[in-house]
Amino acid sequence: MAKGDNIDQIIDHKLFTEDDIHEMCVRLGKQLTEDYAGKKPVVVGALKGAIYFLTDLTRQMDVAHQLDFLDVSSYGDGFESTGKVKIVSDLVTDVKDRNVLIVEDIVDTGLTLKFMKEHIMARGAKSVKCCAMLNKEARRTTDVELEYYGSKVGNEFVVGYGWDFLNMYRNLPYVGVLKPEVIQHYANK
Ligand code: 5GP
Repeated sequence: MAKGDNIDQIIDHKLFTEDDIHEMCVRLGKQLTEDYAGKKPVVVGALKGAIYFLTDLTRQMDVAHQLDFLDVSSYGDGFESTGKVKIVSDLVTDVKDRNVLIVEDIVDTGLTLKFMKEHIMARGAKSVKCCAMLNKEARRTTDVELEYYGSKVGNEFVVGYGWDFLNMYRNLPYVGVLKPEVIQHYANK
């Protein structure tokens, strides 16, 4: 980040360093390599937040797979899910009878994941599982299974490594937590 971006003024602390993230990807990649051996899965990246995690994770997966993307939105520019999920851009791959692995950045209320799983099952997939980097388990409002995740987190608003704040700062190499006063400032607007 350039100096003029004032990143120190918005980030309270680092939650996961580059080394932490690398360790998570190695561990999850190893597990997925075992579980998907010979299954030729379709890996579906949830846009936009998951792309950083997706590229690091899949490079730790020693499994032949195809790649596709699904863009669904529920947050807008705010801090809380709107609760209404809609498709912005759909899959291109025919997932009928295929094993699908959704790669998601974070599962919060679970509404987005539930919507994506149902959408992909409705297209005739054989199985649909999800690997998310972070799991805000205590915030779940819907019953949806998250098969793989890197770490649980509390109710902090994270930015960096794919997570945005007003659609910026996704390219920070670490995961940071926003200062509470920044959230308050924008929440009151
Ligand atoms: P859910 O439908 O599970 O409530 O929301 C999932 C989506 O909310 C994630 O894919 C992500 O885009 C967004 N989200 C949830 N928590 C955070 C957060 O702490 N920071 C950011 N930037 N986005 C979040």
